[in-house]
Amino acid sequence: MSLTVSRSRTALNSITLLFFCYAAISAALASHRDQDASIQRSNHQEATIKLDADRIIREYSSPQAIAEMPQWKQLIISVDQRTRAAILTNLPASYRKYENHNKTLHAKLSAIIDRALDRYNKRYSLLILTHTQPSIMHENYTVLVITTGLLERIPDDAALLMFLFHETAHDFFAEESIRLKDALNQLVVDKKANGPEAQQLVRQLILIELKCDAVAARLAIAAGLDTASFGNVLLKIYKDYPDQLNGLSYIGFNIHPSPQLRAHVIQSITAGQAPPKRSIKSPELKEIKRILSSERLIDSVLTNPSNWNVQSTFMPGQRQCFRGWYIENSSCSS
Ligand SMILES: [Zn+2]
Repeated sequence: MSLTVSRSRTALNSITLLFFCYAAISAALASHRDQDASIQRSNHQEATIKLDADRIIREYSSPQAIAEMPQWKQLIISVDQRTRAAILTNLPASYRKYENHNKTLHAKLSAIIDRALDRYNKRYSLLILTHTQPSIMHENYTVLVITTGLLERIPDDAALLMFLFHETAHDFFAEESIRLKDALNQLVVDKKANGPEAQQLVRQLILIELKCDAVAARLAIAAGLDTASFGNVLLKIYKDYPDQLNGLSYIGFNIHPSPQLRAHVIQSITAGQAPPKRSIKSPELKEIKRILSSERLIDSVLTNPSNWNVQSTFMPGQRQCFRGWYIENSSCSS
């Protein structure tokens, strides 16, 4: 636009001026049309994701999915001691900064998690962060990172385990996720981040998130959990932290579906299948709540959770070399 103005000033010919005015107006209109087109594209994307969500619901509600569940164990990732140690050593400084060292808190949370994952032979190393932002994530499918902000919001064991099962479900899609993220990284390097290819990759990553919710719902049914509280916690988190979706982005791409769609997938799969039980708070969860209520002072030190950059270790163009998946892979040298 500034180029148009400077050039129009040097042009004495009024026709040229008119031309540039026209050019400026049509450029503005074109940019407006681009915006409209991008809104239409994103609406279209959302509509098709909803269709895909319905397909995922059907898939994970089918008798075949239920019959295949015993084989899900084989999809669980377990790493050897050396890799686990490497992953722990390479944890981002942005995590360590908020590390919670309360041994009882760790022991109580580990007890709940280990009990739930016993049947899947999955063991996480646990990293609790004293942070108000409610978050849970896994690092290299090996370290479970969970904030006190999330623990504070957990009303019962079922909600906690739904968050846990979602993270564990990522094991099932690990190879696909890493392939998609690597491809997305490459598009950023090639300056094609706004193109249709990137949009397609993001869409695939969003669908993986919904599949993780679907798997979590199935695992919850198998564990006889009443998942009703989970959807409410999820919706409340996004209401209180509207920037949470950005926080969960990958190198600037939002790869998470809306909480409404996530809740829809979980509710549709669990409807009428999980035995309705009362909200259960285990003695461990009660103890966790008690500890957290006395640790609030530490939380108050943190003032701006949205500045917390959990993605600091992943920059465009950088392969995810320190992921456990790649630590074992000698071809990953950069
Ligand atoms: Zn996820």
